[in-house]
Amino acid sequence: MTSEAPWPVLESDLEFFQREFDSFVPARIFDAHNHLYRTADFTAAVPSLAASGPPVVDWPLYLAKMREIMPGRRFAALSFPYPAAGLDTAGANEFLAGQCRRHPATLGQMVVTPGMDPEFIRETVRRHRFVGLKCYHLFSPRTPTWDSAVEEYMPEQLVRVAHEEGLSITLHMVRSRALSDPVNQESIRRLAERYPNARWILAHAARGFNVHHTIGGIASLRGLPNVWFDTSAVTEAGAFEAIVREFGISRILFGADFPVTHLRGRCVAIGDSFLWLTPENLRLDAAYGNIRPVLVLLESLRAHKQAAWNLKLSDGEIEKMFWDNAADLYGYQERTGAIE
Ligand SMILES: [Zn+2]
Repeated sequence: MTSEAPWPVLESDLEFFQREFDSFVPARIFDAHNHLYRTADFTAAVPSLAASGPPVVDWPLYLAKMREIMPGRRFAALSFPYPAAGLDTAGANEFLAGQCRRHPATLGQMVVTPGMDPEFIRETVRRHRFVGLKCYHLFSPRTPTWDSAVEEYMPEQLVRVAHEEGLSITLHMVRSRALSDPVNQESIRRLAERYPNARWILAHAARGFNVHHTIGGIASLRGLPNVWFDTSAVTEAGAFEAIVREFGISRILFGADFPVTHLRGRCVAIGDSFLWLTPENLRLDAAYGNIRPVLVLLESLRAHKQAAWNLKLSDGEIEKMFWDNAADLYGYQERTGAIE
């Protein structure tokens, strides 16, 4: 083992990266989906992944943990709190703001809940120079929250603020069929068209953990100029391919989803749902042939590499996915241009 808890990385993970990805992953990485947080801001239960890590997950920790796996790479990122039920959003946003102030290589997105006053959001974003908003279904009033329509956790009056202030919105869609769900399709198209200056980042390849939901639904967004997709924690290639086929190479943004990066296993489509295969729900004994799961980040990189192969992407196009697309979205060069 090369590093101890939290979130250990094995010698075999490093060997896997060297063999499979060292010649694939570009020198510069703009990570469009990153979580920075303190466990003290979870006033209800601490999510299990956060509970398995340190109390403070800050930018230096992120850099150290990412560089351990991907040596020699330089990073910038879009970071936001770790959304969870019972989150002290004020505390979480303050912590994030402090990180962004001290470390110009990360931009920040404010975590928002559907009941927030739009003018409070506007004032907070301006004061902290946040570039966007992070909504999440766990703040929806509906039970169960994963059946929520977009407007139940990202109400229209919040989208209007994003439009007026030129903000991005990272949206982790829910409802079982994600982008193949007509309710989600209608919401995103309507809000994107009515508020053209708000820029949607559909997280997890439009929540393509079941890649067929993104493949089946991508055409519903055809022609929208203000929709992007992050690749975070998606470990199969089909959704990435569907996005690039529909929108070209400029709308897909590499995202790692630290610290989800440091879980082990992968997510697979099964029927109309998806299943995370992890050491906890796999039989790793010899009966099934010596299965040794690697880090989710490595599985995700494998999906990127497979998509790049299938789409015949050039080195320049791969660099767009890993850096230029996000940098262009935020005018990053003019804003800070910082890289660490
Ligand atoms: Zn995430």
